[in-house]
Amino acid sequence: MSAATTYYQTNLTTDIIYLKGVGPQRGGALKRYGIENVGQLLHHFPRRYLDRTNIKYIREVKIGEEAVIIGKVASFGMQQARRRRFFQMTLNDPTGYLTCVWFNSISWIVDKFQEGDSIAVFGKIEFRKGFQITHPEFDILEEGEDPVNTGKILAQYPSTAALKAVGLEGRGFRKIINVALELVVEEIEDYFTPEFRDEEKLLSLHEALEQVHQPNDKPSLKNAIYRLKYDEHFFLQLLMALKRQAKEENSGRVFSQRGKYEKDIFKSLDFTLTDAQINVLKEIRSDLARRSPMNRLIQGDVGSGKTIVAVLAAAIVISHGSQVAVMAPTEILAEQHYSSFLQFCKPANIKIALLIGNQKKAEKDKVYSQLESGEIQLVVGTHALIQEGVTFKDLGMIIVDEQHRFGVEQRKALIDKGYSPEVLALTATPIPRTLAFTIHGDMHISIIDELPKNRLPIITKVVKPARMDQVYDFMKKEMDAGHQCFVIYPIIEESEKMDWKASDTGFKKLSEKVFADYKVGYIHGKMKKKTRDEQMAAMANNEIQCLVATTVVEVGIDIANATVMVIENADRFGLTQLHQLRGRIGRGSSQSYCVLVKNSKTPEAEHRLKVMESTSNGFKISDEDLKLRGPGEFFGTRQHGYIKSKIANFVEDGPIIRQTRKRAFQMVEYDPKLQLDKHQNIRKQFKENYRHMLEFVNIS
Ligand code: ADP
Ligand code: MG
Repeated sequence: MSAATTYYQTNLTTDIIYLKGVGPQRGGALKRYGIENVGQLLHHFPRRYLDRTNIKYIREVKIGEEAVIIGKVASFGMQQARRRRFFQMTLNDPTGYLTCVWFNSISWIVDKFQEGDSIAVFGKIEFRKGFQITHPEFDILEEGEDPVNTGKILAQYPSTAALKAVGLEGRGFRKIINVALELVVEEIEDYFTPEFRDEEKLLSLHEALEQVHQPNDKPSLKNAIYRLKYDEHFFLQLLMALKRQAKEENSGRVFSQRGKYEKDIFKSLDFTLTDAQINVLKEIRSDLARRSPMNRLIQGDVGSGKTIVAVLAAAIVISHGSQVAVMAPTEILAEQHYSSFLQFCKPANIKIALLIGNQKKAEKDKVYSQLESGEIQLVVGTHALIQEGVTFKDLGMIIVDEQHRFGVEQRKALIDKGYSPEVLALTATPIPRTLAFTIHGDMHISIIDELPKNRLPIITKVVKPARMDQVYDFMKKEMDAGHQCFVIYPIIEESEKMDWKASDTGFKKLSEKVFADYKVGYIHGKMKKKTRDEQMAAMANNEIQCLVATTVVEVGIDIANATVMVIENADRFGLTQLHQLRGRIGRGSSQSYCVLVKNSKTPEAEHRLKVMESTSNGFKISDEDLKLRGPGEFFGTRQHGYIKSKIANFVEDGPIIRQTRKRAFQMVEYDPKLQLDKHQNIRKQFKENYRHMLEFVNIS
């Protein structure tokens, strides 16, 4: 084989199996890991660097810190402690000894070491009989690789058990990457022209790939990382720019007059709009008056008053004789919107309908025919709106609530029911700016960052289960004063029987014992809709004093008289969800309280609950959430499959995101279809990166 390979020209598209030192066995493992060719191998970036400046001597380590230590293997072998067998390896450096231990499935480790091997270990320092790390990450170093002695910065790669089994951990990876760099480095073609790189102060792709794997020094490494992050963000922003461009190219309708409906609704409001609401409304009016369709997202905390803004926008469009569709992700939320729209639109006498999955066929058919005839001016619904049977006479605007909970295809399906309708999206999940640029980056974003003036900030306290008696006493006082309470239980997975038991027992205990003298209600997602509605209505009418609920209460309930929310097992909720739950209280003018019951003591749980205690600012909370969970987890990965970051970091890369956004949007404004010669390679690369998104953009 090695004789044959010399005839191959190795390049980025060469199958990984044919790279010298790989072969079928390692190649198979790499492919299962997602590395199919040499280019993908070179884009498998180091997870960490061993740099002599971040390596600690054993003498210097502190208990609890994470440290990298370089030393030599002194001894190793199986050990027996009580009933447990484990593997132990001791290493020493010039200042002392450190023990590393592995428990449980340890067969893979027993033949990894030889006495005298140079080794780098990384992990959290503990102290038993001496300094110790349990399950460290480790990297055996070659002769001359030891960064302390050579002054080199050494790359360490992410790996898996399957890759380790074929010798592809740190050292093994470094070797094949070295081969790849030597064989192909001359051929790596850059999609950015030299002029572009000059302007943006970027290394060439070739240099960046070389330096990210084998840095000469710290500044080169920094530049390499900058270039590679730049690439990922740039193409993502280019996608956003092209998507926006594709939408704005459509010529829509002009809705230039405020119209009678909007004025009637406006006049009948029993509150004054906040400045933030007024500003957003102005932006919307000017969008509507332009020919290209509106493409705007309103981001604002729960209770910030997005609904009335959406209502007024809808009224403008309806005044011009067009229809409006409001789509919400759940039936409860659709029903809530339906009743808000009904209420706000009463003075204008607009004809409004509801369309959701569990309506009777006759009912749906009636809505279908009245939408087609134009009799219905505004329809609120769920995914039911995008069914085939739904036809509009003239759909002028769509309003999508919690838009990130719909896929792009679903939003597109609704848009396609009109002729370039105006698009207004709403979200109460305030996300960090940097991520907003990526997830909603093709839209114009308006922010409502001000709550109506009559609200008092909610007081939040974390308590241990042992203190529940005090909490219950406090709730009784509130209920005696005429207020209402929520008690929430987490249902993480609907199939988890344990969770259901928790809320069932909780309800039983509260209704029969603790609050036996009070009116206690119960709702959960598995309940018949009718029963649930009755309970909700009873709560809204102040006939229930304490409502026990699973997270179905997250959306769709707006009760100004509710002042206490107790969240059981609060540590099991994510920050964004806690924030949204808490938003169900504090909606009236009385002081409200949120009690977070803490059952777990993990540092993450403690941290999350501290954040909730310290702020009610949705942006701060979402920033933290992003840090804790990463962008993939933030909303669930389904809708955001296009964010495939290998090196980009949406928390830290704010300045790069802004820079690439500016550059990408400029490029598309100047050359909307990327037809200029100097953009050909960028266009090619874009199409390669985003093959599955091409239907949403307009380049050939
Ligand atoms: P969001 O949809 O942003 O969560 P809503 O639109 O449901 O918030 O508004 C919450 C409540 O506040 C509603 O009862 C609404 O009528 C009321 N509201 C909206 N704007 C104002 C305002 N400027 N002043 C007082 N109350 C308001
Ligand atoms: Mg709302």
